[in-house]
Amino acid sequence: MAILEVKNVGKRFGGLQALSDVNLSVAENSVHAIIGPNGAGKSTLLNCLVGKLIPDTGSVMFDGQSVLGRKPYEINQMGISRVFQTPEIFGDLSVQENMMIPCFAKRDGAFQMNALTAMSSQRDVIEKAEEMLVEMKLADKRHMHAASMSRGDKRRLEIAMCLSQDPRLLLLDEPTAGMARADTNNTIDLLKQIKDERDITIAIIEHDMHVVFSLAERITVLAQGTPLVEDTPDNIKGHPKVREAYLGE
Ligand code: ADP
Ligand code: MG
Repeated sequence: MAILEVKNVGKRFGGLQALSDVNLSVAENSVHAIIGPNGAGKSTLLNCLVGKLIPDTGSVMFDGQSVLGRKPYEINQMGISRVFQTPEIFGDLSVQENMMIPCFAKRDGAFQMNALTAMSSQRDVIEKAEEMLVEMKLADKRHMHAASMSRGDKRRLEIAMCLSQDPRLLLLDEPTAGMARADTNNTIDLLKQIKDERDITIAIIEHDMHVVFSLAERITVLAQGTPLVEDTPDNIKGHPKVREAYLGE
């Protein structure tokens, strides 16, 4: 069954048709990769899924409900969580404090967070944050300044912050961009662990074919704003149109 169903989505920026006729179906509990050259429209598509952009045409259904017209925080509450292309953590705070923020938001609702509720009862939030830090193997770094972590650990923390919301769909935009090979491999292992241990669907935009072929069960190739092909990794590897359009052969 598809948890995410994108139909005929189009998005124009002035004179540029960034997306046209995008159809995408992501099966529940799968890992689905979206690949394509720079400027293909991958991030634009992701932005249309999380309410950051509103498509000009088409529909986006999550678990049978339309996400269009909903605000990003409402879509988040529906069960979609998103990891951005550049890590969005609070560098001045400790790892533990960062982890507490989404835990407060989940408990109190993103827009009811205030100093009073924060001070009145922190114990459950601290416990939830601690649980996540342990699950995500960040517990020994809990007092570290988030800014001084490695790129891989920042990404790990950010993914942990997303998972504390218990999303059903995790969206990642180039999570290994700019990472050294060791951090990339750690991120692959982390995503495999998440996939094995949680009831979750993962849609990942990724440039690094090593990451894509390590994780994805289905791959959609986007080129010039429209899907070129969608298939299994094995079929994608040998696809002549993909080799031509994406691998530059
Ligand atoms: P990708 O993530 O695949 O590299 P993007 O979705 O970021 O591609 O961009 C697709 C195209 O849309 C690019 O040509 C980009 O310059 C353009 N684009 C993206 N966002 C905007 C925007 N907010 N305004 C104008 N053009 C944009
Ligand atoms: Mg992008």
